[in-house]
Amino acid sequence: MKLFDPHVHMTSRTTDDYAAMAAAGIAAVIEPAFWLGQPRTHVGSFEDYFLSLIGWERFRARQFGIRHFCTLAINPKEANDPGLVDGVLELLPRYLEKDGVVGVGEIGYDDMTAAEERTFERQVVMAAEHDLTVLVHTPHRDKRRGTERSLDLIRSLGFPVERVLIDHNNEETLPMVLDSGCWAGHSIYPNTKMDEARMVTLVQRYGAERIIINSAADWGVSDPLKVPKTASAMRAAGIPQHDIETIVWENPIRFFSTGGRLDRHDLESAAAVDQRELWQGNSVLRGQEPRVGR
Ligand SMILES: [Zn+2]
Repeated sequence: MKLFDPHVHMTSRTTDDYAAMAAAGIAAVIEPAFWLGQPRTHVGSFEDYFLSLIGWERFRARQFGIRHFCTLAINPKEANDPGLVDGVLELLPRYLEKDGVVGVGEIGYDDMTAAEERTFERQVVMAAEHDLTVLVHTPHRDKRRGTERSLDLIRSLGFPVERVLIDHNNEETLPMVLDSGCWAGHSIYPNTKMDEARMVTLVQRYGAERIIINSAADWGVSDPLKVPKTASAMRAAGIPQHDIETIVWENPIRFFSTGGRLDRHDLESAAAVDQRELWQGNSVLRGQEPRVGR
């Protein structure tokens, strides 16, 4: 069974993670643009970040047999820096048209400020203009209100709900997201927030339709193997194999292929690995024998 992790910040992870993810069956990932822990102070830093997501990181994933796609945006946290927003939004349209870009995200609310709302709105409009999906981050504090406000904003803009993925859901927010017609993402974390057992309970209660899971792994305490681990937990709990496949493979493909930027055929064929390849003269290897094949 192939697995898809549709929210993982691979820039923060090592090649060991890529190798372990591929061994666990992860065949494709989506890397949403987000904040880097350290606030950026120049618009140009965003441009280089976008370039690395569509360039080097895509290459690095392919070196381990994993297809890499991304969503681009200025994230909710940095939307509060007036020195950045206009400049980043000005360069974004150019990058939204690049190969491997399947959506606008992650956008949404962090502290629920007016600046976040304006930037959220402007980027939803941009997604409509570029025929893209939208990936919405929901805040960790006051998640319920942040989710309600996100859904209200999407509705007020008339953006098609079937192109919206509301992420980081929990027991409280999932029913309202499913009622809205949007897709519902769940980030499975170690120790805190949503975990494997709670996710199993949600699937038993709500089924598989429009349900997506991801690891949201980044530079913090997180686990890039949470998608395979949750799939195992679902299997152990007796959830039908068909539903598991729907959640960990079919749904991310259905959702992210709405703009025509994901090719199911390509995703379903085995990825060729050729570690003799270079990216702008650089290799992921450090003198090892290059792996070539599938
Ligand atoms: Zn994220």
